[in-house]
Amino acid sequence: MLMTGAQYIESLRKLKTRVYMFGEKIDNWVDHPIIRPSINCVAVTYDLAQDPQYADLMTAKSSLTGETINRFAHLHQSADDLRKKVKMQRLCGQKTASCFQRCVGMDAFNAVFSTTFETDKKYGTKYHENFKKFLEKVQKEDLVVDGAMTDPKGDRGLAPHAQRDADLFVHIVERRDDGIVVRGAKCHQTGSINSHWHIIMPTQAMREEDKDYAVSFACPSDADGLYMVYGRQSCDTRKLEDGADVDLGNKQFGGQEALVVFDDVFIPNEYIFQAGEYDFAGMMVERFAGYHRQSYGGCKVGVGDVLIGAAALAAEYNGAQKASHVKDKLIEMTHLNETLYCCGIACSAEGYATEAGNYQIDLLLANVCKQNVTRFPYEIVRLAEDIAGGLMVTMPSETDFKSDLKVGRNGETIGEICNKYFAASPACTTEERMRVLRFLENICLGASAVGYRTESMHGAGSPQAQRIMISRQGNIEGKKELAKAIAGIK
Ligand code: SF4
Ligand code: FE
Repeated sequence: MLMTGAQYIESLRKLKTRVYMFGEKIDNWVDHPIIRPSINCVAVTYDLAQDPQYADLMTAKSSLTGETINRFAHLHQSADDLRKKVKMQRLCGQKTASCFQRCVGMDAFNAVFSTTFETDKKYGTKYHENFKKFLEKVQKEDLVVDGAMTDPKGDRGLAPHAQRDADLFVHIVERRDDGIVVRGAKCHQTGSINSHWHIIMPTQAMREEDKDYAVSFACPSDADGLYMVYGRQSCDTRKLEDGADVDLGNKQFGGQEALVVFDDVFIPNEYIFQAGEYDFAGMMVERFAGYHRQSYGGCKVGVGDVLIGAAALAAEYNGAQKASHVKDKLIEMTHLNETLYCCGIACSAEGYATEAGNYQIDLLLANVCKQNVTRFPYEIVRLAEDIAGGLMVTMPSETDFKSDLKVGRNGETIGEICNKYFAASPACTTEERMRVLRFLENICLGASAVGYRTESMHGAGSPQAQRIMISRQGNIEGKKELAKAIAGIK
């Protein structure tokens, strides 16, 4: 049964998820002004799925039950499904200008589905059955599941078991007949507070000594022993200001990251997808990361579309839209943005079936996609800031624009003075000009910069992680053979 956005938001109220922010426990986190925009953002993934014009992108036929499900809960059945995934993410980015968070779960489903199949084949375990049963529930109830991979990792020079503090990677602390007990944390975890469930995966390839760290499982977000500490965002306390609107830039939507702590959480056997099969940790990581690097060729492009539109509006509002350098900058931004989309589509089009039957993206092309995402949004932001002008970071507050405190020689108010001096083209009101500049500030360096700018660098793995994959997949030996053959070298 597909939920609406409003039903999704209501469903969160039933959870007892433990959330902390600014040193306090937040009981009503659903209505908290700092958290709510990230919830609204996930709600868009539900509302768009209700809209018949987006049905082809936002919904799919379940390979498990034959029912119509939200594509965010789908196991990709073809290269066409992979392409539609990217298009769906671009659409959601266009509608929210933020990180809509639900992709980490989708990417986890597809990585865990195929990895458990191959694990069971080797070890005779029952993880694939466990996972299928879990996913059927997710699809049927249209749940948000947070795919969590990134451990704190401590000293980067040491393996998990060799860390000074054994908890710096999530690990099994107790094995019982009916399940396992896990301890540790996942950090900068996207969309954790507003997910119904979590899927945990290891963060890197593991060796035998790290057996207890090779662990994957699902658990409810409000499981006993689980709690979260909310991540700060630039300008977040603006959301606490009375009547804040223009200054927020994007009042409705935003992303969300948190530290998720597993303080001895019991996981029953039926929700375990890996528990010590260290030789499959790397496969799960590689597949999840590959899918998520593909994802960035969709979501970041959608946000880029809105950013380019905002820059074009700012030019218009400044009266500079006819300047040839402005037009050329918009062309360059479009070129860069569409290049990212090309990468997302290409790694999807070259997708192939895994042994389990779902489709995997082309790993090399997905890594090239994400590597470009670590660069191009920075240039797009640079050009947007160039076009917008410095006012996007120096403008007085909206309270000043609305102030009726008389300060002028002839009794003009602060509001009148601000409106007088910040008026530009007659194509817009001063407030409209403020709105578009604050919106640009939000994407380029405010709250949504988490989901666009810095997330482009580190989300789905920092640049070096892609370079390692590119070096593994790049087939330099094969390329040397090509050169030898033509150059006449034996
Ligand atoms: Fe989805 Fe993009 Fe956010 Fe990742 S960064 S969860 S792909 S919107
Ligand atoms: Fe991300």
